[in-house]
Amino acid sequence: MTTAETIARPAPLAGPAAAAVRTDWTRAEIAELFALPFTELVFRAAEVHRAHHAAGEVQLATLLSIKTGGCPEDCRYCSQSASAEAGVKATKLMDVRQVLQNAARAKDNGSQRFCMGAAWRNPKDRDMPAIVEIVKGVRELGLETCMTLGMLTPAQAGQLAEAGLDYYNHNIDTAPERYAEVITTRTFADRLETIANVRAAGINVCTGGIVGMGESREDRVGFVHALATMEQHPESVPVNALVPVKGTVLGDMLADTPMAKIDDIEFVRTVAVARITMPLSMVRLSAGRESMGEATQAMCFLAGANSIFTGDKLLTAPNAGDDADTAMFARLGLKPLSGPEPLRAGTCGSGCGCA
Ligand code: SF4
Repeated sequence: MTTAETIARPAPLAGPAAAAVRTDWTRAEIAELFALPFTELVFRAAEVHRAHHAAGEVQLATLLSIKTGGCPEDCRYCSQSASAEAGVKATKLMDVRQVLQNAARAKDNGSQRFCMGAAWRNPKDRDMPAIVEIVKGVRELGLETCMTLGMLTPAQAGQLAEAGLDYYNHNIDTAPERYAEVITTRTFADRLETIANVRAAGINVCTGGIVGMGESREDRVGFVHALATMEQHPESVPVNALVPVKGTVLGDMLADTPMAKIDDIEFVRTVAVARITMPLSMVRLSAGRESMGEATQAMCFLAGANSIFTGDKLLTAPNAGDDADTAMFARLGLKPLSGPEPLRAGTCGSGCGCA
């Protein structure tokens, strides 16, 4: 038997198959993609990416913490949890004017998208007027808006939709079967409920999670499978690499061990499989980028990642910084995304008819 015959190869994705958008992926199919020879996997992901997206363009987004720390949830990766001992000081909701100043600065630095995060289990109804004012103000600056505020009721999702919120972020975090090992104060089903409320309100869904939390390949298969089999693919899929922070459960467990950082190749594989299974979604390189070399990031862009967060900070975690990103874009010949996102525009613009 030749080497070629010993490698199980799923059917190539070239041509119309590259354009197909499916929500019926099986775990076995996703596991097969993960197991492809690396170069084959990245090649296929690049084909899918080019069928739907402007290759060489990467969206710049800025993330601002508008309410930091003291969160009642116990996400074991998060320094903002009240149960963490990471020295994050709890703050009140940031003043609307201050948020808008930050947004204007982000726009001046080239960001197209402004994401805002509040460390809440859920927003209180008394918080909503300020939140609505923030959404309207950031939109008036001409920025795409995304918020992550915890669980939402249908009524709160409706208020955000009315204010014009473009995206709501609510990560599924990890594979359903592993959820209770990462968070105990809520369930995977709770996450899906808020995502359904967001969807029903007509807001674009941003949901992804974190890899490198000590999970197995099989868990990563389960994570991508949960996203790629949603009735409608999330328009935005952030893929984070864990930043192990001392004082958090996972940080203390993993920091200073060989598992403190996910293997770069495995991270790129996760990005590639997300791209192949969710062809139209924006795949966002999120936390953990500052500890990745440029070559790894370049592989991620080749494998279909097309959005990054710029600036020195991601909520409370360090980030690569504007200057480093400008230099990287110049070296890689990348340009900031200028056109619309495929799922939001209702057409991917490639003429493949997928949307
Ligand atoms: S990840 Fe979000 S919900 Fe979880 S503890 Fe941190 S701020 Fe709270």
